[in-house]
This record gives sequence, structure tokens and C-alpha cells, in this order.
Amino acid sequence: MNKILNLSLRPRVAFSDKALKSVVATKLRIRLSEIKKINIQKRSIDARKHKVIVHLSLEAILGKLPASPSKYIPTYKNISGSSEVLIVGTGPAGLFAALRLIELGMKPVIIERGVDIHKRKKDIAKLVREKKIDGNSNYCFGEGGAGTFSDGKLYTRSKKRGDVDKVLRVLHFHGAQEEILFDTHPHIGSDRLPSVIENIRKSIIEHGGEIRFGCRLTDLVFSSGKVKAAILQSGERIPVRELILATGHSARDIYELLSQKGIQLEEKSFAMGVRVEHPQELINSIQYHHDDQMAYLPSAEYRLSTRVEGKGVFSFCMCPGGYIIPSMTSENEMVVNGMSSSGRNTPFANSGIVVEIGPGDWGKSGAGKRLPGLNFQMELERKAFEESGSQVMAPAQRLGDFLEGRFSGSLPANSYLAGLVSSPMHEWLPEIIRNPLKQAFLDFGKKMKGFLTNEAIITGVESRTSSPVRIPRNPQTLAHLEISNLFPW
Ligand SMILES: Cc1cc2nc3c(=O)[nH]c(=O)nc-3n(C[C@H](O)[C@H](O)[C@H](O)COP(=O)(O)OP(=O)(O)OC[C@H]3O[C@@H](n4cnc5c(N)ncnc54)[C@H](O)[C@@H]3O)c2cc1C
Repeated sequence: MNKILNLSLRPRVAFSDKALKSVVATKLRIRLSEIKKINIQKRSIDARKHKVIVHLSLEAILGKLPASPSKYIPTYKNISGSSEVLIVGTGPAGLFAALRLIELGMKPVIIERGVDIHKRKKDIAKLVREKKIDGNSNYCFGEGGAGTFSDGKLYTRSKKRGDVDKVLRVLHFHGAQEEILFDTHPHIGSDRLPSVIENIRKSIIEHGGEIRFGCRLTDLVFSSGKVKAAILQSGERIPVRELILATGHSARDIYELLSQKGIQLEEKSFAMGVRVEHPQELINSIQYHHDDQMAYLPSAEYRLSTRVEGKGVFSFCMCPGGYIIPSMTSENEMVVNGMSSSGRNTPFANSGIVVEIGPGDWGKSGAGKRLPGLNFQMELERKAFEESGSQVMAPAQRLGDFLEGRFSGSLPANSYLAGLVSSPMHEWLPEIIRNPLKQAFLDFGKKMKGFLTNEAIITGVESRTSSPVRIPRNPQTLAHLEISNLFPW
């Protein structure tokens, strides 16, 4: 017999298996030994009041344990010999498209410009060690795409994203930790994602799909409103029946290619700014109000947003206990992003703080360009590279100095392993980013007392939050508006 309970507990009990079991036994008026297992179904931390409370929904399994725990088993068919669909890119979009095709009885053939996860890890280690970027193998390109070292925060506020629970179950089936099924803010961690991605690759291949690494798409042949062939950098020509384009928003060459071929693209708003980093302890004390049970709680998160002169400014991809990482994809660019491991246990908390940029904001830098938003984004990344004067060291400034327009004579300890260079970011960030950022930081300082400190740094640039370009789709068929067998993702 199982019992469902909803409990609101203090952190010391909620995060200890032993203490929790004892509370459940008391609540149910049974002996401890009668509880065979506790399955947590939902867990959320409520830190709005002075004493932090953890809300739990759980199932206590009494009596015999079920023979096999109820685990989601996907319905993948063997599809070798079925009709082929070409997918470009092994990022989350490409891999999940491949799994779905297998469920539907079609054979995915995936081409990927980068290398498999093991070789990719070595290239990334080289990036920091040798300060050289490999344009096909880096934090964004290679097996698993930007998803592999993406931290793996798996929540969305959007209601239009389809079956999010199924995505979580598929990731759990492929090796992600059970907690992602019940935490309100599920998180996998960049240390665990590579093996999940590798298991997804194995599933695809086991069921008859194909994955080819080191295959970069460089051209597409169109005729009569269809893609006829995909051309690889090696010169190989792959005939196409259907093509899923899952190259992600760092693949500027693909946007350029489509634009050159006269394929319809749309400019769209996106966001750029900086990554801010604080000591995690400071963020914990602010968010958990110095609660005396803070030590039992996970590293604290925050989410901030405001509007400055009609523009949204918001925190993005906040990584408690994380690292800031170099995530550019080409030489002469500097881009930063953030990630953390599953334990979220570095002494630093980082987050993108970004400003909405829309068509019309590019100004001079976009004038006359085919893809002005993309060009504006690229120019800022080049500027950041010039300011740091190194391929992987990033420009940075203390937060207080940025607000007061002062060069930072020194920088505090930080998580950016490739090294930071002190830079007057208040001078070179474009005005349409700099001014809203300054106002927003002042506002965030009021919302989170202690956030504005010279022990925090900003580093730049955080420029790849989303794409400045949309490939328009037919809402019914999900194919490109003009090309009926091209499915952009
Ligand atoms: C450091 C970091 C942290 C992040 N944290 C989170 C997070 O916590 N939660 C979250 O939801 N999102 C996060 N993101 C964003 C997330 O990773 C992306 O939204 C997601 O990876 C996009 O998936 P995608 O498949 O569309 O594209 P991508 O992941 O970009 O994958 C595209 C793939 O296509 C390949 N490709 C590109 N061009 C070609 C070509 N010409 N030929 C062949 N192959 C090509 C690339 O090598 C790559 O493998 C983070 C991103 C980064 C960089």
C-alpha cells in the first residue's frame, strides 16, 4: 500500500533521507521499518519569508517494493531500412528530432560538423591550455551541440513548448538523475550531460539511425521549392528527401548560406549584455535571508528583470556554484556563457544580464548589411576580443567600477579558468546596452540587498542568448514557408 503526502518542512529535514523518513513515519503513525521507499514527486524551495520552507509531494511505499520500479520506457522501433530523413546537427534539437523520427518509424541520418564527445572534451581542454579555438569543436559545436556543456537547466516558463515532462523522462531514461523528474527547477549539470548525450547517440544507432561526425554542411541545392541535395565541405553530395536543419544559433554560416540562396529569413529581437559573477555565499545569504539552516540548502539561484526606457533587461541562464566559460565559435570573437556541474559547488554564482535588442537598434553597424542583427552581434563579439587582446581571456570589470565609470585596478577571484583582463567596459559597450545595464543593476541592487558590490565582476560579452534571425516556418507543416521539405529547428 502506498501513501501520498504533501509536507512543508525546514531544509535540515527535507534534504536528509533519514530525517524525512522519520517525519513520514510519525505523520502516518507507523514504524520506520514499514516504509520501504520514499519517492519524491515534487520539490520546491520557498524562500520568500525569513525562514526557508521546502514543499514536498511524496509517495511513501509501504509493504512490498514493486518488482520493477515504474520507469519510463520509450517506444523506439527498429527503423533500419525505413525512409531516411537527413538531420544537420547533433544538438538537443537534432538528437530529439532523431528520437522522434525513430518513434514514428523513420530513419534519421545525422551529419555533424564536430567530433564525438570524447574527442570534443580534449579539444575544449586545449582551448584553455593553448588559447586556440577550433571552429568545429568547441563549447558550442560537436556532439550534443551547445547542449552538452549547457549546464542543463531544464525549466521553461513558456507554455508552448510541447510535452516538457516527456523530455525530462527521455533524459532520465538516458542517464540523467532522478531529481530532474520532481524538482521545480530541474538541473543535470555539465559533468553528467556528456554521458546522457552519448547514451542518446547509442539509442539512435541501436535502433538503426546513423550519425556521421566531421561532416560540415556547406551548401544546399534547391529546385522547385524543395531542397534536392546537401553538400558537405568534403565535396560529398547527399540527396535529400526531407531535411531537418538543427544547426543552432551559433551557426552563422548557415544563416549566411540561406540568405545568399535567397531563402526567406526574418530579423528578430534578441538580447545581449554581460555575465555577472558574485561570491555564491553572498547570493545564498541574500536569497536565504541568512537562514540558520542555509547549509542544508542547494546553492541559491536568482531571477531578475526590469524595464529601462521601454527595454527589457533580465538575468539569463543563472548558474549557482558555476563557472563562466569561453563559448565563442570562431577566431577573433569573445563570447562568455555559464555552466555548472551537478553539485553546483564552486564558490561563485554567475548569470547573464542582458538587454533586449530589436530591429532598429543596430544603427550604423547594421546599415546596408543583409543580416544586420547578426552583424551587430558579431561586431560586439569582435570588440570584446580586441579589448581582451587574447583568444580566450575575457574582458572584465568590477561591478561597482562599471557603475561609477572607473577602470578596475585589480579583479577579484573568479571562476573563469582561461583568465580575465581588466577592461573599461563602461567605455566600449555600445550605449544601447551600457545605459540600460547600468539602470538595471541599480534596480537589481534594490531588489536584492547586497547585489551591488565591488566584489562582483562583469565580463563580456554575453551575446548568444538567442538568435537575431528566424527561419520562418509554416505553422501547420513546420516546414520553411517556401521550401516544403526543409524543417528548420
Ligand atoms: C554554456 C551554455 C550554457 C547553457 N545553459 C543552458 C541551460 O542551462 N538550459 C537551457 O535550456 N539552455 C542552455 N543553453 C542553451 C542551449 O544549449 C541551446 O539552446 C541548445 O543547445 C540549442 O540546441 P540546438 O540543437 O538548437 O543547437 P546547438 O546546441 O547549437 O546544436 C547545433 C549543432 O549543429 C552543429 N552544426 C552547426 N553547423 C553545422 C554545419 N554546417 N554542418 C553540420 N553540423 C553543424 C553544431 O556543431 C552543433 O552540434 C546554454 C548554452 C551554452 C553555450
